[in-house]
Amino acid sequence: MGGVSLDQRIVGFDLWHLKLPVTTRRDHGIGAVEGTCEVIVLRLTAEGGETGFGEASPWVVFTGSVEASWAALDRYLRPIVIGARVGDISGIMAKAARAVAHCTEAKAALETALLDLAGRIKGVPVWALLGGKCRDTIPLSVSLANPDWAQEQALLERITSDGVGIVKLKAGFTGHAFDVMRMEALARDYPDLDVRVDFNQGLEIEEAMPRVLDLARFGPSFIEQPVRAHQFAIMAKLRAACPVPLLADESVFGPEDASRAIAEGIADGFSIKIMKSGGLRRGQEVARMAAANGLSAYGGDMFEAGLAHLAGAHMIAATPEITLGCEFYQAQYYLKEDILEDPFPSAGGVVTVPNGPGLGIKPDLEKLERYRV
Ligand code: MG
Repeated sequence: MGGVSLDQRIVGFDLWHLKLPVTTRRDHGIGAVEGTCEVIVLRLTAEGGETGFGEASPWVVFTGSVEASWAALDRYLRPIVIGARVGDISGIMAKAARAVAHCTEAKAALETALLDLAGRIKGVPVWALLGGKCRDTIPLSVSLANPDWAQEQALLERITSDGVGIVKLKAGFTGHAFDVMRMEALARDYPDLDVRVDFNQGLEIEEAMPRVLDLARFGPSFIEQPVRAHQFAIMAKLRAACPVPLLADESVFGPEDASRAIAEGIADGFSIKIMKSGGLRRGQEVARMAAANGLSAYGGDMFEAGLAHLAGAHMIAATPEITLGCEFYQAQYYLKEDILEDPFPSAGGVVTVPNGPGLGIKPDLEKLERYRV
């Protein structure tokens, strides 16, 4: 059965492990990225010949390793996908959850590819398969994580002249004075920017409270994940004392963590990433849990290429509870070259949600071969 039927079987499962050159070093609380970032691209092929793509973008100090993503896809998820019907997305993802523990990036890649494939076969965008669209554009935030502040100022000039209105200062990877200097510079030189702060788990228990409170006096729109993911009790104390909203990122991967985070009052909002939740629909679930409990949410990302950005953009387009914009800046501002056939659609400070079938843009197969390990 081929053509436009979602009953057709999935017959192809191809993987690329890519090393993508990046422009600069970036420091985050718990680790740095320099030289290249590594992602995996999955291509599913239906018996009628249509293809769907997904990306796994792990970061070893945060979600897991590229080797684990590859093994999860190649060894444990491939057998439940080959021969399955294209339309059985919920059933395939339920099997995937049981087939291998963790490996949320691999599961995100799989669901992305299934949705892309189904969308292309039916001629509808992925956002339509996720409940329909609530927005056409998503405000873009760019993260400031370069340890070289002079280089960072060049990026600031570029993004603000491109119309970007939100930045997130990556803090806590070196001394407090560097964080204060950058907050002062942003307040002085870019008073119109919406500034957010993210410690990426970088602070020790003893220093967390004074450093968080000292940066809070600059009035950032939120402060994210000052301490380690599992330190829920300290997150709750920081949240109670902090005069600006405290967000959880590494503490909340999927709905199960969100449940506990809400019960223990550790945050005023969540960072939602498909690479943490293990798929687009589980990301939507986290967002709905947040909103139902009075928490805000934004669409975060990992060190991703444009393919993963597209998946995130479709998820946010179909999720009204994600109100604080997105961070899909790497394809345009961090990678030396993205992997898509057409540029990821960010301009004028927003990401424009694609309306073509599936994800709307495919990877360039020549680039996949060029950067293949
Ligand atoms: Mg974060």
